[in-house]
Amino acid sequence: MQNLFQNAMVQLDKVVQMKNFSREDGPVSGWSELITRLQQPDRDIRISIPVKMDDGTLKIFEGYRVEYNNTLGPYKGGIRYHPETEINEVKALAFWMVLKCAVVGIPMGGGKGGVTVDPKKLSKNELERLSRGWARGLSDVLGPHKDVPAPDVNTTPEIMTWIADEYSKITGDTTGAVITGKPLSGGGSEGRDTSTAQGGFYVFDALQKELGLPEVCRVVVQGFGNVGSNVAEIFTQRGHKVAAISDSKGGIYNNEGLNIEKLLEYKKTTGSLFDFPGSRNITNEELLKTECDLLIPAAFENQITVENASEIKAKAVLELANGPTTPEADEILFKKNIPVIPDILANSGGVTVSYFEWVQNLKNEHWSEKEVFEKLEPMLKNASLEILEKAHKSNTHLRMGAFIRALERIKEKMV
Ligand code: NAD
Repeated sequence: MQNLFQNAMVQLDKVVQMKNFSREDGPVSGWSELITRLQQPDRDIRISIPVKMDDGTLKIFEGYRVEYNNTLGPYKGGIRYHPETEINEVKALAFWMVLKCAVVGIPMGGGKGGVTVDPKKLSKNELERLSRGWARGLSDVLGPHKDVPAPDVNTTPEIMTWIADEYSKITGDTTGAVITGKPLSGGGSEGRDTSTAQGGFYVFDALQKELGLPEVCRVVVQGFGNVGSNVAEIFTQRGHKVAAISDSKGGIYNNEGLNIEKLLEYKKTTGSLFDFPGSRNITNEELLKTECDLLIPAAFENQITVENASEIKAKAVLELANGPTTPEADEILFKKNIPVIPDILANSGGVTVSYFEWVQNLKNEHWSEKEVFEKLEPMLKNASLEILEKAHKSNTHLRMGAFIRALERIKEKMV
């Protein structure tokens, strides 16, 4: 399988071929220049982070920050802590952030960060020293008007607070606007913790009828972390049925719909989803192939691939994870008439509320959750309908529609 950055570049290439943006279309500010600029990041930074471990030994961790493109505003994107995180993954995620911000129309560019680490193997003190080390190593490139990170997989509001604090000690900037996803007490925004899932629901809501989905959908969710558990709860509250859900160990299925509130408690006490009363255990492979109206990948990248795409039995896919569908799988689903609502639109609620947090910090304001979601909903619904129209006009799938809309916005501003 190609690495994630290669997948991202295949997607970009597809738009180039489809729209026939030739290399001879003008000397500056033309499509060719835009595409050439977007084939690599503005800079990718790797740092060594020395961390004093609790047993007194010194361990060096590898950290990253990729600043992909800032045509629309300061670089923006989360930080991922994962044992398999590496530079190509971070580059791909940073590229998608550029498009994601452009799709929704927020004045932010795209970046992403990470550390190759299994955070579950660190004590809280070690995790804090690692996070502060990441901030120290990158303090000269971060900044409210330069590069504004946020949480991603395995990074929490508390980690954001450590990074904000370290940054303010070094620079004296106490606005907190250097990073988003902070806890409410540390200048975070109302609604940020559920914003990706809530945003995913707004996008679904805008497209549900257009895509011919029934009023009450049977939903299958892969992933039971921040995004997966929240989206399962939101869909249930809105009257849909979540028939299957999984985490990294595997999943569970109940044809009548799962009680997500009880499942959250169950996982807290048992540490697993398995054997949840009234359900049967299934593997992640089975989950992806479950017959349903809506499949929501909300775990990791490269889950729907050439190996399983032809067996997907969903009527539509809502990508809340980043990069869950490979380019080859995209084509298979398109031929099967299964619309894929792409990550750069479907999960953009997270970065949009991150942007709201940044605005609130800079203006020293605090918006209510109601205000936050009242601002979020129309932005995502408008973006969804615009992208649907782009896709229809070019007779292509929604991902290409989203790429075209994003590229147009960046091109308008690129000098
Ligand atoms: P998380 O760490 O809170 O949750 C990840 C979940 O996926 C966990 O339940 C884990 O057990 C599960 N998982 C891991 N491997 C799996 C597998 N092979 N099969 C099934 N489940 C598996 O992370 P998160 O914040 O919920 O992020 C999930 C995805 O959403 C990521 O791709 C992330 O980049 C994307 N995303 C997150 C946000 C956000 O605001 N948190 C915003 C945009 C995009």
